[in-house]
Amino acid sequence: MGRINILDKHVAELIAAGEVVERPSSVIKELVENSIDAGATAVTVEIKNGGVTFMRVSDNGSGILRDDIRPAFIRHATSKVRVEDDLSAIATLGFRGEALASVSSVSHLELITKAREEDIGTRYLIEGGEEISLDDAGCPDGTTFIIRDLFYNVPARMKFLKTDMAEGNAVSNVVDKIALSHPEIAITYIRDQKTVLRTSGDSKLLSAIYAVYGRDFASSLIPVDYTLGGIHVSGYVSRPENARPNRNMQNFFINRRFVICKTAMAALSEACKGAVMVGKFPSCVLDLDMSFEAVDVNVHPTKLEVRFVNERPVFDAVYHAVKTALMNGDKRVEAKLNKPSVKVNPFELAQKVFRERDEKPAAPVQKPDLTRLDKRTEQKRSDELFAMLDEPVVTVPKRTADSISLSDSASPAVENYRKYIESVKADKIAEPEKKEEEAPAEPEPTVEKLAVQEADEEPKPLIDMDDNYYKYIGEAFGTYIILQKNDKELLLIDKHAAHERIIFEKLKKDKGSGYSQLLLEPITVTLNKIDYTAVTQSLDIFSEAGFDIEDFGSGTVIVRSAPQYLPAEDIESSVIEMAGYLSENKKEIRSEKMEWIYANVSCRAAIKGGNRSTERELIELARQVEDEDIRRCPHGRPVSLVLTKRELERMFGRLQ
Ligand code: ADP
Ligand code: MG
Repeated sequence: MGRINILDKHVAELIAAGEVVERPSSVIKELVENSIDAGATAVTVEIKNGGVTFMRVSDNGSGILRDDIRPAFIRHATSKVRVEDDLSAIATLGFRGEALASVSSVSHLELITKAREEDIGTRYLIEGGEEISLDDAGCPDGTTFIIRDLFYNVPARMKFLKTDMAEGNAVSNVVDKIALSHPEIAITYIRDQKTVLRTSGDSKLLSAIYAVYGRDFASSLIPVDYTLGGIHVSGYVSRPENARPNRNMQNFFINRRFVICKTAMAALSEACKGAVMVGKFPSCVLDLDMSFEAVDVNVHPTKLEVRFVNERPVFDAVYHAVKTALMNGDKRVEAKLNKPSVKVNPFELAQKVFRERDEKPAAPVQKPDLTRLDKRTEQKRSDELFAMLDEPVVTVPKRTADSISLSDSASPAVENYRKYIESVKADKIAEPEKKEEEAPAEPEPTVEKLAVQEADEEPKPLIDMDDNYYKYIGEAFGTYIILQKNDKELLLIDKHAAHERIIFEKLKKDKGSGYSQLLLEPITVTLNKIDYTAVTQSLDIFSEAGFDIEDFGSGTVIVRSAPQYLPAEDIESSVIEMAGYLSENKKEIRSEKMEWIYANVSCRAAIKGGNRSTERELIELARQVEDEDIRRCPHGRPVSLVLTKRELERMFGRLQ
């Protein structure tokens, strides 16, 4: 007697129709959720080519009874829901009975499974929804699904798939979330034959966080454990000073189901207000344990959104849980600036930015039900929630609102600046030209010269822009330009990121040969077969990026000109890298490729952190950043960072 029953039409219709299988990551999500529902304690996920050609999910769960195999592939066939009432209290991750039907209709699917209570396992093949075979198989208890050639019979869907890299990254994202929400399951994840994640399954959330996000992140967290209004909030939140420039590491789980939960995000922001810099976001891994009746998970086919019967208790529970945790965790004062969170290869970062941009949800996110919120705070919170919905993936501190108007400022510092600036206005206007003349002649700094510079206490105004006045303070770590803006804040500018962006914009604007430079000696570059084909087929793209490249035959190309900003010693490696990118990203649109190439060139051409720069260069760079309102580098990292006087005062305990 099997476990599976086919839902009656009424119940089936209650489950809104929708597409479950959008891309490889959605298949992996459904299959791993099935493994979890089957009580597995170990799950292995393997993908090749972003999952498009090959995906395997193996578990040691209950297995599927032979009699249940065929029904399992029928739409709305599930062992998890029987009657309408079951839908109001879903305790399993799956319940829609759609995944296997959907996946098998658009792929070559192989299932190998053995239920504990049966002696012999089964191997079942189904392709494009048509059963091919069902045979005995010797196999351990548990289930393995192998999915090959996703969308082989739906070219229209195939077309919407992104590059293997992007699809693989989306799968990694899904596996990360599952690992974080189920630390009791040992998860192994193999991507293109490399094991990229392995969790121990020791049930400790911190172990899973360590496996997913690494040691630095795991060791800087504050534990959260709080119950309010029947909702138990547990997990970890980052220290406020470790806030990040985006929300990518805000993980919320409702009854251990990963969801995008705007209410919880808003509560987290509210709880961290004042502790986290404007434009920065705390990270967290928080599970909200609540009664199954209090939440409706049947809102969307992918089950990524949920609806609460009542939003308010959810908001309050998260708010108080985080607030309490921060208070307990804030025993020592750490006046640390936000450090860059992860070291990433810029090219991977570029991929990531493109991916994130692609993945921004197209559908409008549902407005949370705020009707039960207290009248006074309702407007404020709803404003906040909506502000959050529109926020870009990467944000940087907003600065414009803080600008000082000279006329109503009584600050002597500002007054001094005004006088000073007026007295040197003529000089200042001529400054960019002067820089051109003087820069090449700039001698190596000598001891005498350094001494003179140190003795020079005179404020060095940068420029007055929109009533803002800047005092150049110096350069830190050979990387960050420090400026005092008005008398309100310190501005730190990453000189590499800033320069990179400026070059990037120039390349984009000048397009084509405008900035291409003939090389004194052409450079030959030898490429592997795949990259060689990619380059020779994309000579026009290279040309638009300022590279004049010719096919030299037998795997070699010859570079005759290159963008003038690119150091000569970087040309060969740049071409090889671009070739690699082009061969891996066949499907991407041209403008996206161009952006990537411009980003690559500008990254190489920009002054590097640690390189010596003259004060004039730095001032000019800072001037451009402020003048052109440059906010992030082509890879999406912020270019500047603001530390307000108030924040400093708070850190030093001058302000309560
Ligand atoms: P749902 O998960 O919504 O029930 P699916 O189409 O994902 O629907 O799966 C159909 C049924 O197949 C499940 O209800 C379950 O009984 C069975 N099943 C799927 N995957 C597994 C697995 N890994 N182990 C045991 N049973 C499984
Ligand atoms: Mg399922």
